[in-house]
Amino acid sequence: MDYDVIIIGGGHAGVEAALAVARMGRTAAIITMDPGKLALMSCNPAIGGVGKSHVVKEIDALGGLMGKAIDATGIQFRRLNLSRGPAVWSTRVQADRVAYNKYVVEYVKAQEKIEVIQGLAGEILTECGKATGIRTENGEVIGAQAVIVCSGTFLGGLIHIGEQTRVAGRIGELAAHKLADSIRSLGFKTGRLKTGTPPRLDGQTIDWSKCEIQPGEEPIPFFSPNSRRRRFQQTPCHLTYTTQATKELISANFERSPIFSGKVTSTGPRYCPSIEDKFFRFADKERHQLFLEPEGNGTDEVYPNGFSTSLPEDIQREAIRTVTGLESAVITQPGYAVEYDYCLTHQIKASLETRLISGLFFAGQINGTSGYEEAAGQGLMAGINAVLAIEQEPSFTLDRSEAYIGVMIDDIVTLSITEPYRLFTSRAEYRLTLREDNARDRIYRYAEKYSLVSRETLQGFQQLTVRTEAVIKRALKKRIKVSDLDGLAGRFEKIDNISLEVLLKQPGMTVAEAVGYIDQFDPESNGDQEASERAAISIRYSGYIDKQQREVDKFKRLESQVIPDDFDFALPVGLKQEAREKLARIRPGSLGQASRIEGVTPGDIAVLSVFVTRHKGNASA
Ligand SMILES: Cc1cc2nc3c(=O)[nH]c(=O)nc-3n(C[C@H](O)[C@H](O)[C@H](O)COP(=O)(O)OP(=O)(O)OC[C@H]3O[C@@H](n4cnc5c(N)ncnc54)[C@H](O)[C@@H]3O)c2cc1C
Repeated sequence: MDYDVIIIGGGHAGVEAALAVARMGRTAAIITMDPGKLALMSCNPAIGGVGKSHVVKEIDALGGLMGKAIDATGIQFRRLNLSRGPAVWSTRVQADRVAYNKYVVEYVKAQEKIEVIQGLAGEILTECGKATGIRTENGEVIGAQAVIVCSGTFLGGLIHIGEQTRVAGRIGELAAHKLADSIRSLGFKTGRLKTGTPPRLDGQTIDWSKCEIQPGEEPIPFFSPNSRRRRFQQTPCHLTYTTQATKELISANFERSPIFSGKVTSTGPRYCPSIEDKFFRFADKERHQLFLEPEGNGTDEVYPNGFSTSLPEDIQREAIRTVTGLESAVITQPGYAVEYDYCLTHQIKASLETRLISGLFFAGQINGTSGYEEAAGQGLMAGINAVLAIEQEPSFTLDRSEAYIGVMIDDIVTLSITEPYRLFTSRAEYRLTLREDNARDRIYRYAEKYSLVSRETLQGFQQLTVRTEAVIKRALKKRIKVSDLDGLAGRFEKIDNISLEVLLKQPGMTVAEAVGYIDQFDPESNGDQEASERAAISIRYSGYIDKQQREVDKFKRLESQVIPDDFDFALPVGLKQEAREKLARIRPGSLGQASRIEGVTPGDIAVLSVFVTRHKGNASA
């Protein structure tokens, strides 16, 4: 074997996969079309956002690169949803797109155990149902003990701009058709999905005075506790709106868009529709907001977030100039739609290893997901599991109560993905316990188990935990005179002396205010903002968190009832036909997972439970 693991594709999934393999002491080769484009942002120049930022924190807690890379190259940092509960606080960082890509290229280059090979993987090689390597389109054979496919939007990629169609996975690049054929010839069933991107604009031609400024947040909310806290002037984003003229022009040209002309039939992301789709579907809405996001500090290029389109270039040019502030805007790159192949996800296990070929893993867009963070999270898990498979160790999965990565992978393997999948906080039923601030509490035990982060990092976190607990303990003991509480005193008419804990639990208080009271009444906390914020969240939400923990315990009980790999779903008498078919296709690993399959009822689970117990009894007999 030339390498332990070969990774096809150096996008967000491929990079995290290779780095995880290397952190676990194994050699990895990334074969990719252009080694200079590792982790390139194909679409919006930003990392994080609602639901996605949680994944970045989890990747970071597993030693991954995404959080550190964006901390080093971000130009504007904000936290969204701060007026709501901490479960949905989400960090979003505007990237310097070129600097981000360069940072990743340099970082990967410095890894002794990773080699980046320029080439086009054309065939996955197998022997006796096991992946053994790849053959490039030039005929070169590279051997490995495991192969991870992270081919993004390139598998059978086809780009559409108005009436024009080009074979490509991204504008100006190639597509991976031979690899798509190879995957199908191995027996995998594929489907077709679509996504799109807006035109890019020359910022010099924008009238910024007509747009609303959106500054970054101070102090800067970095993603990773291990990043250098750099100080810099944050670059603002701007907000603007389409006009009546935009609506009229686009509505008059619907039939020139490939999504309406019938040229594109595959499904696109529902949560991120094209501008023509927005005017079509929400015909009564007069205008749509657009965020003008800088692509970096060294460029004038601007990304008009919300204006994804595949209309012809002439219409794009005309339409963009109907937007407030963009009356003279010049397009530097047209918007386009891309159609690509993905693999139907009942064909992979929760470890992201395929069911058909052992040692073959899929991660990222190939699994029907959309987004850099989703791809990176899967890449990292596939990398770890490829090494575990080589070492014949049990696979590593995170469940829905432990991580957004767990929610995402469970959704992928349990639900039938028929449209691009992205994460939202609403997908996580245990989101009160899956917060950004406690990612390390949830994940570090695994990072330690698989040696994914350094001892110093783990020790640093243990110290933070000790400091947080000390703040909580002191808050229970610390007594406060109600008369000292300007403004709040009226709430405690019958009591003149309360604990800091009782004060921090008062309804209507923000976490920032609670931290302010800790600073005021607990001098020993010494301005330790991180420990105080963690303590404030823990105290304020303890009732809800305890309640959620009871639900998690219930969930874990069902999850721990494993369905053996060799269980025959044809056997249980009394299963509904629809449930039987779906169970046999998806092959859930536990009763818990089985219960989440659409069409499987509690009655089916009761029947299944009896037969699974009987099967285990027979097996042990
Ligand atoms: C036009 C467009 C619009 C998008 N819009 C959105 C959006 O609105 N929202 C959103 O969340 N996401 C969007 N995305 C998706 C986002 O870019 C992807 O989800 C994310 O990049 C997927 O990461 P990945 O690692 O799976 O693949 P990618 O980042 O696409 O990387 C794939 C890599 O694999 C390489 N490769 C592929 N096949 C081969 C082969 N056979 N041999 C060698 N190398 C190969 C490619 O060169 C590339 O480097 C968009 C993508 C595109 C192209």
